[in-house]
Amino acid sequence: MKRDPRNILQQYKLKNTPVRVSVLEVLLGSRVALSHNDITERLKGKDIDKVTLYRTLNSFTEKGLTHKVPTEDRNWLYAIFDEDLLRPATDHYHAHFVCNKCDKIYCLPVEEHQSMQNSSIKMGFKVLSSEVRLHGLCPVCQ
Ligand SMILES: [Zn+2]
Ligand SMILES: [Zn+2]
Repeated sequence: MKRDPRNILQQYKLKNTPVRVSVLEVLLGSRVALSHNDITERLKGKDIDKVTLYRTLNSFTEKGLTHKVPTEDRNWLYAIFDEDLLRPATDHYHAHFVCNKCDKIYCLPVEEHQSMQNSSIKMGFKVLSSEVRLHGLCPVCQ
């Protein structure tokens, strides 16, 4: 499937700006979640300052286009999970795989997410957000 950043922005009711298109292209081109620094590095040559990048990522996240992934050392990474683009923004069911060797965080599809939530609700817990996290070695590091 060819994903045109402009169409995706439109789909998420975000105004088309050159900055948004560039940042979105970087995120779409990555299999792993990216930090501010990672994104800045990949935007080299494009004149996008820190504040603008911060705002851009915030507006993406507000609209449910990107999601934030906490790192082990309490930073935030940003990611787009391909399958999420086909689903409603509130329906982000996937797991995160953290590689013990390269520290990269991958988004992975999960099947059992809903049943996990349901059993928490049955036990009287109110689930506000959830993250399934797996640790191990990514395909590159094995
Ligand atoms: Zn790895
Ligand atoms: Zn993810």
